[in-house]
Amino acid sequence: MTSQVLQEAPVAYPPFTAEHDLIRQTVKRFCQEEIAPFAQEWDEAGIFPREIFRKAADLGLFGIRIPTELGGSGLDWWATAAAMESMAWADSPGVGMGLMVQAELTIPIINELGTAEQKDAFMRPAMAGDWIGALGISEPWGGSDVAAIRTTARSEGDELVISGQKLWITNGSRADFIVLAVRTDGGGHRGISLVLFPMRTPGYSVGKKLKKVGNLCSDTAELFFDECRIPASYILGEKNRGFYYIMHNFQGERLASAIMTAACLERCLDYAVRYGKERSAFGNPVGSYQVWRHKFAEHCTNLEAARWLTYRALDLMNRGQKAVREITMAKLFTSELAQRLTYDCMQIFGGFGYTTEYPVSRFWRDLRLYTIGAGTSEIMKEILAKEDGL
Ligand SMILES: Cc1cc2nc3c(=O)[nH]c(=O)nc-3n(C[C@H](O)[C@H](O)[C@H](O)COP(=O)(O)OP(=O)(O)OC[C@H]3O[C@@H](n4cnc5c(N)ncnc54)[C@H](O)[C@@H]3O)c2cc1C
Repeated sequence: MTSQVLQEAPVAYPPFTAEHDLIRQTVKRFCQEEIAPFAQEWDEAGIFPREIFRKAADLGLFGIRIPTELGGSGLDWWATAAAMESMAWADSPGVGMGLMVQAELTIPIINELGTAEQKDAFMRPAMAGDWIGALGISEPWGGSDVAAIRTTARSEGDELVISGQKLWITNGSRADFIVLAVRTDGGGHRGISLVLFPMRTPGYSVGKKLKKVGNLCSDTAELFFDECRIPASYILGEKNRGFYYIMHNFQGERLASAIMTAACLERCLDYAVRYGKERSAFGNPVGSYQVWRHKFAEHCTNLEAARWLTYRALDLMNRGQKAVREITMAKLFTSELAQRLTYDCMQIFGGFGYTTEYPVSRFWRDLRLYTIGAGTSEIMKEILAKEDGL
């Protein structure tokens, strides 16, 4: 007798469907037509146009997992992966990062914790691409050490009065609102809350836009808050539970960053393999020399491992299961692989690799960030050591 399990139709894995293919085609076309041709120009300008947020919104990129009754598509993490993987066609991780902050770091946390009023006031305009969102956790004295933040919010009647400073804020120079981590009580991780902060609030100012090594078209700013008054009703979730929410939200950010990094690596490797076939030296295509074929075979293997590790993490997250260990591993593995893989891809381009003529140098510069941003590799290893009781 055949068992029940054997009778079930085998489930394709990863479970991408024709609907996901459609998402891929749409996002790929958007990237190829609206972003990639301008990537270099926007890097030089130090910012990409605001209207890209609107165009991304029109494609539904800011509401993939948001319920349909709130104007989203009501899909799951696999749909998010299909969209994010296709963003690699933009050849611009900087644009990807700006959009990712909006899609994965601000909108989902409002959807999860926000009241109906907060969703109306902040999430709807963000999903429509009318408002640009940012996430403000890091400060000059606390990036890895989130519990060290000093920006305060004191209660006065039905208002919160916010003073302090944030650093490294993506989308910061032109954001319309920020999901802001503030200290509402005592020291340590227990006295932190999240608030929704509209940038039009008096007392708020943008300091300098930071000059960076990569992700040049993505603005990164320092922000100042001087006795800024916002309604107390803008606290997101429960007061003093912010640290817990941040740690939870980091999971989505790190998973998204692993998905995006792996897809960009595939694109970068593809450029390098193609160049190796076209460029000749000493009478042979450069890529036909065994040293390159072996290097690329190794990178293909690592990339395959990166993708499966990421899909495993995604699957757990998608099913609402604990995924801290797998997400942390995926973030660590993809970001560390990026350093070796983009180095070799740049190397096979010879002198051209060191110019901005080809996207490989942009991948090399931009993906350098990922052992630092969204939690450093050292912090990923700390988490893993704790998770595995090492
Ligand atoms: C381009 C860019 C965009 C960013 N965007 C945002 C954003 O939108 N919002 C936001 O809030 N933040 C943002 N960040 C900040 C980013 O999250 C932090 O830079 C990162 O968390 C590291 O913090 P830090 O820079 O303060 O370094 P630190 O925490 O000072 O770390 C310095 C070094 O010490 C190491 N270290 C720290 N603790 C330990 C330990 N326990 N054991 C061993 N080594 C340790 C770190 O790994 C690192 O190598 C961004 C950063 C960059 C560069």
